[in-house]
Amino acid sequence: MALTHSPEALRAEGIRKSFGSLEVLKGVDLTACKGDVIAIIGGSGSGKSTLLRCLNLLEHPTAGSLRIDGEEVGLTPDGRGHLGAASNAQIRRIRTKLAMVFQSFNLWSHMTLLENVTEVPVRVLGIPRDKATVEAMELLDRVGLADKANVYPAFLSGGQQQRGAIARALAVQPKVMLFDEPTSALDPELVGEVLKVITSLAEEGRTMILVTHEMGFARDVANHVVFLRDGLVEEQGLPAQVLGNPKSERLARFLGNVG
Ligand code: ADP
Ligand code: MG
Repeated sequence: MALTHSPEALRAEGIRKSFGSLEVLKGVDLTACKGDVIAIIGGSGSGKSTLLRCLNLLEHPTAGSLRIDGEEVGLTPDGRGHLGAASNAQIRRIRTKLAMVFQSFNLWSHMTLLENVTEVPVRVLGIPRDKATVEAMELLDRVGLADKANVYPAFLSGGQQQRGAIARALAVQPKVMLFDEPTSALDPELVGEVLKVITSLAEEGRTMILVTHEMGFARDVANHVVFLRDGLVEEQGLPAQVLGNPKSERLARFLGNVG
């Protein structure tokens, strides 16, 4: 169900990204309205991670425009042919509006789970530690890890670490959650517990953009699927259409291989 009347959370237009002479993104448009769950699918090397990283300025696009939560991101040339945000303050603001969960669990290893979740709220957002701790405990409870608050990441399973990373992302109260293959580094038996948490976030109406190879999950949870091929959107639409009745032969072949 497309939430056509919801306000826009993110609009990316004409996003291009080159690494040296390699053009990885060749002009990608992507719009997420509030409550949308967008699944990005595509073969290895098609530019999925680079696109997510351009959205929250972990990579600076070579061209394009970005509007996040009503704020035009001042992408200005940095003298090396790349576009940077207008200021570090804006980059910080964007990173909290677009929190990202990566493929490999990237909790800070020298901090407990609770410290991982409170770190950015306390140090970057200036939230008093007591308040941040209460909120972090609620989030850890949400992802089923309240009893692990004082544990270091090394003592958690991959699934627990990834659920912890989701709690940490939620702690900045992001407008849009970005997930880059959040389950592909997990042992198969741990995938379900992470997908369950992500599904519950979708059900509560969070706006999310997920790169995933889990096609069944994309079909069930997303309301829009984007097939990226060679740095361009090859096909997009409703999950049932894109995944069940693809128009593009490339997409049909891709689905045949992953399914
Ligand atoms: P995907 O996530 O779809 O597998 P990526 O976005 O990671 O694809 O990568 C797309 C292409 O960009 C690949 O050819 C990859 O080697 C290249 N690439 C990604 N990041 C960099 C980088 N920092 N420097 C050079 N090339 C990169
Ligand atoms: Mg990738």
